[in-house]
Amino acid sequence: MGTRTSEFIARLTEALGPKGVSTDPVEIDPHISDWRGRWKGSTPVLVKPATTEEVSKAMTLCAEYGFAVNPQGGNSGMVNGSVPQGEVLISLKRMNKVREVDTLNDAMTLEAGVILTKAQEIADENGRLFPLSLGAQGVAMIGGLISTNAGGVGVLRYGMMRDLVLGIEAVMPDGRIWNGLRGLRKDNTGYDLKHLFIGAEGTLGIVTAATLKLFPKPAVKETAWAVVETPAKAVELLQIAKAASGGAVTGFEIVPKFGLELVLKHIPDTRDPLPSTAPWRVLIELSLPREEGARDMIETLLGDAIEKGVAADAVICENEGQKAMVWKIRENIAVAERAHGKALKHDVSVPVSRVAEFMERGAELARSTAPGVDIIAFGHVGDGNIHFNVTPPPGVDQDAFVAKEGLKVSEAIHDLIASLNGSISAEHGIGRLKRDELAWRKSPIEMEMMRAVKKALDPDGRMNPGRVL
Ligand SMILES: Cc1cc2nc3c(=O)[nH]c(=O)nc-3n(C[C@H](O)[C@H](O)[C@H](O)COP(=O)(O)OP(=O)(O)OC[C@H]3O[C@@H](n4cnc5c(N)ncnc54)[C@H](O)[C@@H]3O)c2cc1C
Repeated sequence: MGTRTSEFIARLTEALGPKGVSTDPVEIDPHISDWRGRWKGSTPVLVKPATTEEVSKAMTLCAEYGFAVNPQGGNSGMVNGSVPQGEVLISLKRMNKVREVDTLNDAMTLEAGVILTKAQEIADENGRLFPLSLGAQGVAMIGGLISTNAGGVGVLRYGMMRDLVLGIEAVMPDGRIWNGLRGLRKDNTGYDLKHLFIGAEGTLGIVTAATLKLFPKPAVKETAWAVVETPAKAVELLQIAKAASGGAVTGFEIVPKFGLELVLKHIPDTRDPLPSTAPWRVLIELSLPREEGARDMIETLLGDAIEKGVAADAVICENEGQKAMVWKIRENIAVAERAHGKALKHDVSVPVSRVAEFMERGAELARSTAPGVDIIAFGHVGDGNIHFNVTPPPGVDQDAFVAKEGLKVSEAIHDLIASLNGSISAEHGIGRLKRDELAWRKSPIEMEMMRAVKKALDPDGRMNPGRVL
């Protein structure tokens, strides 16, 4: 370590105290690789501020010394954005206070390091619902969820993280603090700057706190598991469910038979809720304000779907244990897939009306580009967002397959997505993984506007260099 870096760390320690700074390799280690073990990085120092003022002090020092910064939340990101590549690593994990819960305003203000399950609990304790829900909710933090504009399983009814944020507090690259923590639902006073930070993946500044929307808790959730023959039938079932429930569908997830089999094989204490040879399953969740009529509603809509030949079969969860089981299956597909081996992952979206076409054409395309592959396509049909993952043919060297076929398969899938007017990153973001592709997939004018925003807010390019742009 050079003398300049040593001096920088000494000044950081003076400013934040010993609890706020670490150069211990054992403590740093889990912060410098991603959850899948796909990317490994490095950092000269792990900074752990406990307050916004401490983030500001750290950022001021980074600016003075000209050091680049990598903010980190739960490090569950999927696109190689949160792993440092030699930058100063600022972890928000000690910033985990609840600043305010304002039930009359249906809002809560939390610091960036609050873990998502904790945020859900805080809402629940206050008789409200914070609806964001995703597989990494036990580790992902508010700041990371905002910075990636996370989606998950409730988007159909409640929207993405962007739709759940009323206000933001952020520290700029030069250390200045912007307090935009307004709990307003209406505020037309010029550019809505919070939206720049939402989904910016830490390239513009550090999110230190946010005011988030709360919702009434549903009185009852009815959950069902249906068997369908094709993705087109799943989309038809979605229309039936939406129409019959008056928009109360809060979850609508497609699961392929192969994905289900991987979960049953790799995840303990799971079982198939409705054994069938059919190739697709759908998890349906309705959230309703009253118990009365709820069961009738889901029974009727499923009966209707079966009668019309849309669903082949269906089962309604009778208790909380059964509901937990179907969600466990859905939320563990990515984990089971990882246990199965390598996969070429595509987090893509198309208009809901084109989901079935994409899934069918995408499967044909992947199989013709790389014969013998298996496909695990699952996810948020109701949002038009499919995780379209392609696994190497059984028995081949997985690394060699990814190196040889990876780019070809992914380009073919993304070309198809472009032709359907879709997105090559529905909810995971760009990071370092998709940065180069973004540059030629987006129109020149979009890239120009994005670069102009980056230049205006981070003129020295020290925030998460190499991510997104
Ligand atoms: C099993 C599993 C399932 C998942 N399911 C979903 C899903 O359904 N939907 C979905 O959208 N995502 C999903 N993800 C991806 C991931 O959980 C989300 O991207 C999440 O929002 C990342 O939060 P984090 O706190 O872990 O952020 P990190 O991974 O630490 O960081 C993500 C990015 O944000 C930046 N960042 C982090 N904190 C801040 C901050 N305070 N200020 C500025 N920049 C910051 C980082 O530099 C990085 O670029 C899943 C991940 C896993 C492992």
